[in-house]
Amino acid sequence: MIIAIDGPSGAGKGTVARAVARALGYRHVDTGAMYRAVAWQALANGVDLSNEEAVAALARQAAFDLSGDRVAIDGEDVSRAIRTPEIDVAAAAVARLPAVRRALVERQRQLASGGGVVVEGRDIGSVVFPAADLKIYLDASPDERARRRAHDPAHGSRGGAVAEVANALAARDHQDRTRETSPLVAAADAIVVDTTDLTIEDVVEHVMKAIAQARPPRPD
Ligand code: C5P
Repeated sequence: MIIAIDGPSGAGKGTVARAVARALGYRHVDTGAMYRAVAWQALANGVDLSNEEAVAALARQAAFDLSGDRVAIDGEDVSRAIRTPEIDVAAAAVARLPAVRRALVERQRQLASGGGVVVEGRDIGSVVFPAADLKIYLDASPDERARRRAHDPAHGSRGGAVAEVANALAARDHQDRTRETSPLVAAADAIVVDTTDLTIEDVVEHVMKAIAQARPPRPD
């Protein structure tokens, strides 16, 4: 199966996608990490983030390693380096460029070929895999998403600075939702889950039930 998990930052996509992949023995593909790694490499190489062709060339040529929680681009481990406020902004900037999206969408389709994957992102159910076996759209209130992000060790856990994180998150959300190419939207056939008052365990259970229902019956 191909399971698509979309939604805004801080909705719980990463944690849920990882847990569901582990429970099913599936691969987890974090497409946000690809936009982040391309933005990181562009900055490291002194490429102007608005130079669409130059950034798209990076996206087409880069070797990605997304095994487990590790993220590497062209052999360089950037797992930590891509989770900074600077890369939050840079990733959203390169994600607006249509040629960059075309390049990464093609790479994402290759990575998930053969199925047995949980793919997380913003446009997985709407654009990358419109025929995914199951589409989940996770959401939560802006306050709750900012609170989670501010306490997330993977993002430097800038605990305490919730108001600052909330402002940055709102700006990035706005950019992701209003860009012309593949804006963040729930696919028409996605199951929308508001995770504001749910624990991770609740959400994982909900998704696992939806998977059980979506699975074709086993031939006896
Ligand atoms: O999910 P994450 O916050 O790591 O994604 C970083 C950025 O990459 C998002 O703000 C968004 O602009 C972009 N992105 C995207 N499409 C995806 C995944 C991420 O545009 N499928």
